[in-house]
Amino acid sequence: MIKCQMAMEAMEQIAPRVLAEEWDNPGLLLGDPAQKINKIITCLDVTEALVREAVEKECDMIISHHPFIFHALKKIRTDLPAGRLIRQLIKSNIAVFAAHTNLDSANGGVNDMLCEMWHLHNIRPLDITFAEELVKLAVFVPQSHAEAVRLAIGKAGAGFIGNYSHCAFEVRGKGHFLPREGTSPYIGEIGRIASVDEVRLETVLPEQIKDRVVRAMLKVHPYEEAAYEIYPLKTKGKAAGLGRIGEIEEKLSLEQFAAMIKEILPVDYVRIVKSNDRKIKRVALCSGAGAEFIGKAKMQGADLYVTGDVKYHEAQKAQELDMNLIDAGHFGTEAPVAEALADKLNLYARKNKWNIEIIYDTTAKDPFSII
Ligand SMILES: [Zn+2]
Repeated sequence: MIKCQMAMEAMEQIAPRVLAEEWDNPGLLLGDPAQKINKIITCLDVTEALVREAVEKECDMIISHHPFIFHALKKIRTDLPAGRLIRQLIKSNIAVFAAHTNLDSANGGVNDMLCEMWHLHNIRPLDITFAEELVKLAVFVPQSHAEAVRLAIGKAGAGFIGNYSHCAFEVRGKGHFLPREGTSPYIGEIGRIASVDEVRLETVLPEQIKDRVVRAMLKVHPYEEAAYEIYPLKTKGKAAGLGRIGEIEEKLSLEQFAAMIKEILPVDYVRIVKSNDRKIKRVALCSGAGAEFIGKAKMQGADLYVTGDVKYHEAQKAQELDMNLIDAGHFGTEAPVAEALADKLNLYARKNKWNIEIIYDTTAKDPFSII
């Protein structure tokens, strides 16, 4: 058993809220952070069928991709579908949490899941919506303790540049100070100016972990009053955003690529806009409804753009831009997230020794079918 709050914290790690679009409504939509959770079900949509499944399987929490409460509610009419759903959820004491555009953008989120399924590499966000704020930490430490401080701040997460960790720079110099009455200096004595061989050690770190890094630094720094400075940087850290662009290993025709994703995704068909005969190497994608990024995909040199919910005029725009397009459906590009999210939560649960069960919705169906 865990508290609902713990599942919310796990979701914050998987899909940080800061990555959500402004218009979105992620987070705990129904329930109490203090309520007890024994079983979670993950899904794409909170439908009546899903709630029935959750009740039957005795789940006490639903984690969905689409927020089932999206616009402000002015009434809860239990004779209408939305109100019926809320009544059923409250009656069954089921909490509902959603991770929507934050899960789309997150590292390892819905779009990365598609990249993995389609074996894309050299992946980057198609539309960058967030870049980590960085700060610089400069700390003055006696030479004898420079290594210990450098390792401690590296372990706490400072000094990441790309795939390199523990990046730091140090320069030697002299530190001067006068211990005054009431101090107990590690070096020097009260009333006399001390001059010590010190190192100025500097590194970069994301703004949001600065307290943790400073705590780690102070723990091993020998001085009673450690001298350090933190200042903001104009350079940005890790970027995140909607959609992805990457490359496939071997060039494929549009038809071959379409057949491949049709095989992989839970779809009976995909729709194609064939704008040219060129082979596909660079693929841009956006899960769900992402036709707004057709131009971005073109600008970034994609040979193909894959998304869902493409309208007639958007298909025409793709042709005008000489961009090949596949509409694999909103459901098709997002339904696999239920299983992927359950996997991530199960991993987190094992790591944190949670004694709960996490399952995923296996009954969801695309409302569209073809005859
Ligand atoms: Zn969606």
